Amino acid sequence: EIGIEGDQDAPETLKPRAPVVTIMGHVDHGKTSLLDALRGTDVVRGEAGGITQHIGAYQVKTKGGDIITFLDTPGHEAFTEMRARGANVTDIVILVVAADDGLMPQTIEAINHTKAAGVPMIVAINKVDKPEANPQRIRERLLEHEIVVEDLGGDVQDVQVSALKKTGLDELIEKILLQAELLELTANPDRAAEGNVIEAKLDKGRGPVATVLVRRGTLKVGDNFVVGAESGKVRAMVNDKGENVKVAGPSAPVEVLGLSGVPMAGDQLSVVENEARAREVAAYRSELATKKRTTAAPTSVEHMFSALNATVIEYPIVVKADVQGSVEAIVGALNRASTDEIKVRVLHSGVGAITESDVTLAAASRAPLIGFNVRPNAKARVLAERDKVSLRYYDVIYDLIEEVKGEMAGQLAPERIETIVGRAEVLQVFPAGKKDKAAGLLVMDGIIRKGLNARLTRDDVIVSRTTIASLRRFKDDVSEVRAGMECGAMLQDTNDIKVGDTLELFEVEERQRTL
Ligand code: GDP
Repeated sequence: EIGIEGDQDAPETLKPRAPVVTIMGHVDHGKTSLLDALRGTDVVRGEAGGITQHIGAYQVKTKGGDIITFLDTPGHEAFTEMRARGANVTDIVILVVAADDGLMPQTIEAINHTKAAGVPMIVAINKVDKPEANPQRIRERLLEHEIVVEDLGGDVQDVQVSALKKTGLDELIEKILLQAELLELTANPDRAAEGNVIEAKLDKGRGPVATVLVRRGTLKVGDNFVVGAESGKVRAMVNDKGENVKVAGPSAPVEVLGLSGVPMAGDQLSVVENEARAREVAAYRSELATKKRTTAAPTSVEHMFSALNATVIEYPIVVKADVQGSVEAIVGALNRASTDEIKVRVLHSGVGAITESDVTLAAASRAPLIGFNVRPNAKARVLAERDKVSLRYYDVIYDLIEEVKGEMAGQLAPERIETIVGRAEVLQVFPAGKKDKAAGLLVMDGIIRKGLNARLTRDDVIVSRTTIASLRRFKDDVSEVRAGMECGAMLQDTNDIKVGDTLELFEVEERQRTL
């Protein structure tokens, strides 16, 4: 995009940056309470007297002096919506599970959305202050979703907390920092800033405002920028403590004033040289956005390309069905349809209507979304239309599986089928131009035909490949010559040919694979 995005920073310019954390989990399991409790651990806020400005994200300075950025919009919908817009801002997910309630539908959605994004997870078992809390049961139930905590021999960190009683918070912070260390998060702070919009609104007094999470570089007051299809010049910046700031570096969230209009969550902000440039890029992006909206539905083709270098192609899919029995039958059949070359990856499956969460997940992963005896709810329908998600409805499992298999097969390279159509012995060789050779041939079996590909073998070893450019019999051009007859042939691009060699002619057919 006009050379302002997508460039890589040189390794020596990279400095450590704060991790960006999103909290997910089932409703009422304590996401908001935990966000508040963690916010309360900030040593800076303690000094300042605890002014809180809700801008969509906040930073905590730990007792050890480390910084952590928390996104203030909990839940997997926001997370995946951002991802669908190309903004993979989250480094670490905290999965909150209430110890008295256990794994619930949205817990499982959160797990699947996190897995689909490939973001590491820390499990926070919340409400352990409650007498009926059963943390061990949660660890065991997580196994069913391939989440193995350290205690059970896995590598997913877990921690028992009470957002209410504020216990386990230090340990949770420690685990976030440990995970962040493993990720070796870095960014170049000394360049033109780039970031993503976390949230945006039209403020009555201040005009359009957007909270931007800086990804790299340092955003400064006075910077010209483009954000989505809008442009602007940073008039002022406000941090999560309500303070006016002049600069914001990597992983810092700031409210930015001075935009031409309200951008969308997930939109990328890029600082540019001057106002003219900002307007030019904004216009270009706006045009691009219009074009994008009118292009075809996303397919799994991009997945195929990204997987080309790997040995196995992944076929992502989201499945919703009317009853658990159908879900199990479909997922089982899909898994059995996997081969060594292409594997079905069920990103999420569940019982019930197709929801917005299902649609955003399918959109972000460019996966088809299957409804078996279920339909999308109204909001999901609108979203699917907007994001051009491929929705498919079935009421017969066989049809569903056969169609998916067909699509999977379509992603495999076609099968190459070779048929030998004839053999000839080389009786004479004449030079003919730089690369070509003319040869006298005796057709031993089958047929030889003009235009066919051929191999020259000598003592059953292939010495060169060629194409029959033309055929002659008694001064006449012919298109084919049958067994038992002699002919002259012009052999294209032949570097090695001797009297006594065998010419083997073959036809190649490419056939679409089936599963
Ligand atoms: P969210 O929907 O996931 O954001 O959940 P909330 O943070 O709104 O919490 C839902 C309810 O659980 C509220 O009534 C909280 O007071 C309560 N709650 C949250 N954390 C704890 C906890 O650690 N212990 C207990 N006993 N209650 C909690």
